[in-house]
Amino acid sequence: MGTKKVRIAVIGGGAAGLCCAVRCARHFGKGSTLIIERQPRTGRKLLATGNGRCNITNRNVSLSHYHGDKRLIRAMLSRFTADDCEHFFRQLGILLRDEDGGRVYPYSNRATTVLDCLRLACVRSGAEELCGFQIRTIRKSGRQFILQSDNIRVISDYLVFATGSAAAPQLGADDSGFRLLEDSFGILSTPRFPALAPVNTKEHYSQLKGVRAKGTVTLLGGDKRIQTSKGEIQFTEKGLSGICVFDLSRYVNEFFALGTVNGKQYRRIRLSVDVMQEFSHEELCAYLHECKKIFADEKAAAVLSGALDKKLSQTIADDCRLSTVPCRTLDSSSIERLAYSAKNLLFTPIASDDLRSAQVCAGGIDSTEVAPDTLMSYRVENLYICGELLDADGECGGYNLHLAFAGAHTAADAIISGSTGI
Ligand SMILES: Cc1cc2nc3c(=O)[nH]c(=O)nc-3n(C[C@H](O)[C@H](O)[C@H](O)COP(=O)(O)OP(=O)(O)OC[C@H]3O[C@@H](n4cnc5c(N)ncnc54)[C@H](O)[C@@H]3O)c2cc1C
Repeated sequence: MGTKKVRIAVIGGGAAGLCCAVRCARHFGKGSTLIIERQPRTGRKLLATGNGRCNITNRNVSLSHYHGDKRLIRAMLSRFTADDCEHFFRQLGILLRDEDGGRVYPYSNRATTVLDCLRLACVRSGAEELCGFQIRTIRKSGRQFILQSDNIRVISDYLVFATGSAAAPQLGADDSGFRLLEDSFGILSTPRFPALAPVNTKEHYSQLKGVRAKGTVTLLGGDKRIQTSKGEIQFTEKGLSGICVFDLSRYVNEFFALGTVNGKQYRRIRLSVDVMQEFSHEELCAYLHECKKIFADEKAAAVLSGALDKKLSQTIADDCRLSTVPCRTLDSSSIERLAYSAKNLLFTPIASDDLRSAQVCAGGIDSTEVAPDTLMSYRVENLYICGELLDADGECGGYNLHLAFAGAHTAADAIISGSTGI
């Protein structure tokens, strides 16, 4: 049985763990910091981010783009802005590029650039990696942490947990970090559920599979509008997808996990899809009246076919039970129904615990467990928790990686300065 002694052991070689290790090793020097990774290589999820392009941060980072424990998120963001993020990566040699919506990507457009430079920075600063390390037990003896695998024991003065969430298990993710924290130290977490994921719905129009449309999706609680999101909507075999749907999925899954949306109780929720958002109901009716004459001898779906994908027009006509009638016979009330349906196509979400298609999980370590200014555990001195383990999740657009890096910096700063924040 080999034994390795270090000052700081970082469990999890993902976005947060690698970033925290670089910061610590730069300060404490060669051999001070050890990254303990269960998988054969570090950074597997990081490589898959942004479709392999890694949407690293967002220029508009602010509290309003996040859910979860706002006190914790505010504290992390106040220490690490988008400019700080750019500065950190520039120090690693990574050039960034701005895109629409404040999204920031590596100039190379490749996530490998980010991972390679982070890993190189670890090597240069003397942080070591121990991959394929299956933690069997963790305990604290006096002031030291003792981590045990089948054949290696690691002893450290500080322990950083950065094991991420169970989102995307196909990339090796699971809940083991939460289990280790609870079983070893009694550190508790809130219920977790998928966020940033497609939404499965009761109505899945098989003919719409693969169709994309620009539009607005509104989450309704009863008949009340709760939240609206704009962008590209993708219709799938099982329901709805696309970035704007991803952003709403957080609320949908909160409803199925906790019975609430944004903390408020609702009896039922639905998604209303508007695929002609630029037009008012009246404008759309006027357009459809014009088309009624142009496509007089065609079936009703044709009145929308000059504006929408054919399959979508057909679905709207079906929804209004008008698919068999010719355009010429459409009266004003039929036109009104078609216009209404194009702007309010209703979908009823169904519960899904499919983590494979989720980018992040909502929920996490209970906010009463960590000090916001340092991310140190209140229960266990010198134990820090960062990254997606925390009860904090962001919208699509680089907000989640930003928070992982922000948490890593907060924990590293605290370790370096010797501050407990308690
Ligand atoms: C497909 C996809 C695309 C995404 N795209 C973006 C994007 O473009 N922009 C964005 O902001 N966010 C994106 N995200 C979210 C982002 O990847 C995560 O929020 C972020 O990686 C969280 O960082 P982390 O360090 O907490 O966890 P991770 O990056 O998941 O790292 C955790 C590490 O810990 C290791 N580990 C887990 N358990 C143990 C254990 N018991 N012992 C040792 N090691 C362990 C894991 O193997 C992993 O290497 C995406 C997510 C997915 C799945």
